Amino acid sequence: MKKNRIKKILKISIVVILILCFLWSAPVVFYWNNGKSVVKGSSNKGTIENPYKMDLYGKNFSYFSYLSYFGLGMCFTSERVYNSLKDCMKALESSAAGKHFYIMELSRKNGGKTLLHQTHRAGLSVDLMVPKLNKNGKQTRFYDHCGLWHYCFNFDKEGRMNIDNSVQIDFESLALLIHELEIAAAKNGSPLQRVIIREEIRDNLLKTPSAARLNKALIVSYPQNKFVNKMHDDHIHVDFVYK
Ligand SMILES: [Zn+2]
Repeated sequence: MKKNRIKKILKISIVVILILCFLWSAPVVFYWNNGKSVVKGSSNKGTIENPYKMDLYGKNFSYFSYLSYFGLGMCFTSERVYNSLKDCMKALESSAAGKHFYIMELSRKNGGKTLLHQTHRAGLSVDLMVPKLNKNGKQTRFYDHCGLWHYCFNFDKEGRMNIDNSVQIDFESLALLIHELEIAAAKNGSPLQRVIIREEIRDNLLKTPSAARLNKALIVSYPQNKFVNKMHDDHIHVDFVYK
């Protein structure tokens, strides 16, 4: 009798949790992109009106975390940045054929302060995960499915993952990603302002065949700020200009 009662309470609790999760994520699920975005202020002190919701996945890309997407609602950006990301991924289907890319946190629905970031407040900031290779030189996505924990991963100056030395940053694909994003952003009227990457890793990025096509002045590091420098090894941070 007591067992049945516990079972019933458990069932009701699960249903209540599911309903709460659904209600919590409803503003993200039932949002449709339309019209033009209005960006106010800057990436570290701004807001956004009429944002665009990033696609959860595409042919060669995915958003990296369901919790970040549906729970925290960090999947919003401005319409020009949205179009730039989509155009960039389309171009990468050819230039980096067979490679899969992960878009990390963007902004909240109406911008403003966020949990983990000093910027990302006006739909002008994007985090992009570093693509990785296994010891055979093929793309590995094993660690790309760790959601928000991915921000905790560290890589040494050769781009080797600290917790798994057989995994290394795919610097050539990363260079192509930045290159295609720069072209797409300029085309969509919201050019790149800067790309932040850890100093030690930047050196290797600039040794790749595609580095010659990069605007090196845009790719910056902040070694004087140890925390900021250390954080930008598992992902790059990109800021866009909205004129
Ligand atoms: Zn960022």
